[in-house]
Amino acid sequence: MTKIDFVTLFPGMFASVVAEGLLARARGKGLLETGFVNPRDFSPDKRRKVDERPYGGGAGMVMTPEPLYAAIKSAAKRGSRVVYLSPQGRPFNEKVARRLAKVRQLVLVCGHYEGIDERVMGLFNEEISIGDYVLSGGELAAMVVADAVTRWLPGMLKKEGAVEAESFSLTAGQRPLLEYPQYTRPKLWRSKKVPEVLLSGNHGKVAEWRLRAATLSTKRKRPDLLKTVRSH
Ligand code: SAM
Repeated sequence: MTKIDFVTLFPGMFASVVAEGLLARARGKGLLETGFVNPRDFSPDKRRKVDERPYGGGAGMVMTPEPLYAAIKSAAKRGSRVVYLSPQGRPFNEKVARRLAKVRQLVLVCGHYEGIDERVMGLFNEEISIGDYVLSGGELAAMVVADAVTRWLPGMLKKEGAVEAESFSLTAGQRPLLEYPQYTRPKLWRSKKVPEVLLSGNHGKVAEWRLRAATLSTKRKRPDLLKTVRSH
């Protein structure tokens, strides 16, 4: 059983993500537990204030350190991995998702406003970004990470091969490839046919075709991937 705790000022944003779809399935199977901790509950302020103006001036508000510190401390148990979602973090990818899926407890910390007081940074094991753009809060990023990680939880997918073969997992040598094109019924749809080889029942030929098609897709759509060398 893995636990993912979200430290967030807006737990309501997660309601449907944990109640429907993949995370709900994982929870139903007893493979995942989710929890929420709201820094507002730890505010020393009577009005539960959690933000202040930045020292040195500048636009917007910054999350104050104490409520965030206390929320993280209350969520994180021994052996947990505490991750701050941040546009300044290391890029999130499939390799990171697989690594985090092995952790017993993942604490995903969502910033808001102009970000968080630098002095709490020491609490994080790592900083992760979901892309080179700025979101208004870490919540959507935390949902993205939770979804990608949950897919890799042991026992989550009946056919482990289903995730292994997907984009970024298939390899040609040391390189990640995009997934090969997929087809399903009917065999003929609006005068478009399914490639003959996929109907042949010849697993060797199908595998060969898929590797070739995946390489072509990658060359066409993400040639940059063919330059990167995979290290896991
Ligand atoms: N002022 C901060 C900066 O420039 O680094 C950005 C703050 S952003 C408006 C508010 C929060 O959204 C951040 O604290 C972070 O938790 C989250 N966030 C924004 N963009 C993100 C991204 N690309 N990946 C992960 N989290 C992000």
